[in-house]
Amino acid sequence: MPIEEGGFYDRDPRLFDLRVALIYPGPYEVALSSLGHQILYFLINSMEGVMAERFVTDLRGSVESGRSLEEFDVILATLHFEGQYQVLLRMIEGVKRPVLVGGPAVSFNPLPISPLVGAVGLGDGEGLVEEALRIFREDPEGSPYPSLFFYKYRNKVRPNRILKLKPLLNQLRVIENGSVSNKFLLEISRGCNWGCRFCGIGWHWKPRVGLQVDQIIEALDSAQEQGFRDVFIIGSDAASSRTLKEVLGEIVNRGLKASLPSLRADQIDTELLDLMRRTGERMLTLAPETGSERIKEVINKRIDNEDVLRAIEEARDLGFRHAKLYFMIGLPFESESDVLKSAELARKANRVLRTKVSLSLFVPKAGTPFETIPLLREEDFRRRVSIFRRNFRGDLNVSHYGRAFVQALLSLGGFEVGEILRVAFKRSFNRRVYEDIARFLKVNIVKIIYEERETPWWNYVSDDMRRCALAEEFERAKAVGLEG
Ligand code: SF4
Repeated sequence: MPIEEGGFYDRDPRLFDLRVALIYPGPYEVALSSLGHQILYFLINSMEGVMAERFVTDLRGSVESGRSLEEFDVILATLHFEGQYQVLLRMIEGVKRPVLVGGPAVSFNPLPISPLVGAVGLGDGEGLVEEALRIFREDPEGSPYPSLFFYKYRNKVRPNRILKLKPLLNQLRVIENGSVSNKFLLEISRGCNWGCRFCGIGWHWKPRVGLQVDQIIEALDSAQEQGFRDVFIIGSDAASSRTLKEVLGEIVNRGLKASLPSLRADQIDTELLDLMRRTGERMLTLAPETGSERIKEVINKRIDNEDVLRAIEEARDLGFRHAKLYFMIGLPFESESDVLKSAELARKANRVLRTKVSLSLFVPKAGTPFETIPLLREEDFRRRVSIFRRNFRGDLNVSHYGRAFVQALLSLGGFEVGEILRVAFKRSFNRRVYEDIARFLKVNIVKIIYEERETPWWNYVSDDMRRCALAEEFERAKAVGLEG
């Protein structure tokens, strides 16, 4: 272990019936701030007769003991975004053990990864993992994979959802200079009810579930007992939580620090900003996505520009030092004049408070109302980025078109994209690599990326009502989009 770590399990594998290798396809530091990875680690180690050790990209062997993957009975991995598929495949290359994967990216569309792993769990990992490991324990030789999992060409599976959220009380701790240096991960809500039409979390993790105040108190007590000083609040829709102010109030009273995810500007008021400031937060992060009123209606994220600017002004008055704004380019029915409006909003924000802008290409997600939308062509993307850049003239970070292209392929394609991935993972996460292999395998990726199409994943989703609801949502978006 490169650094001193507390809270981990140090166990003798000979004493357990089932040994699980838990992979995070990324470096140790990033794995440490992955709540999903930590939840599974503690969950599995709390199961009778089962033990788990962690694997990351920058350590040889497991974090706990340096053992190799081959010394474990089964491999589990969480995939948060498509860029991690290749990393995982490199980590498990040549290893002859069953591999189960889960996480948001594969829950949106498990088809491309599924030919390359044993099975894919959809939805929340809690519940799924117990079921999977129970089957492996009871019958390690004869694997039909767990019924809750999607594998190979198996039909119709429903995603797993938890009904109640529980805080993770004990967590891994990195000790530096005698005290804990990493953050305590506090998930106050999971999922979202707002229904922004582009958002995978918003459509796959609905309804939202949240912690109760007494659970939060218990979690903060536990954080303090373990010596944590910083709390990282997690929740895709944290600002709508009635409990957010109470959490921050508790954090202030205990003299702890907090950091927060991006918040909806229309849910922010002076009291919330003041509490954030008192927890040490000096950056306000918002995701307006666009500055165009028409596109806000199209995407169903109706946050007024006035709300965004008001929140930033109040933050400035309270002593915040920076704002960070997330915008997208290539949203459905978007024109260059809409991009201009986004740049104008960013420019106004930057006049109020130093603002970093992250501009990304909209990548359609399976199972959302916008899954049929083609990816914006590269030349249009470049033109719109330059419109934004010219009219914003500030600190701008732009997403890489080629990477978004591969991401779109993995997020929208079917099994045939898995065949491309089977070859591509040894090379780079690069558009040209995927295009070359697709040509060789005679897979028409232009059709997947640039034409209107439904994702083939619908052939395996047992939810026709949802499919109709998404189509209706798209019609609503189109009615607004075509007005402009
Ligand atoms: S973009 Fe944010 S507010 Fe909208 S559905 Fe997704 S998580 Fe919810």
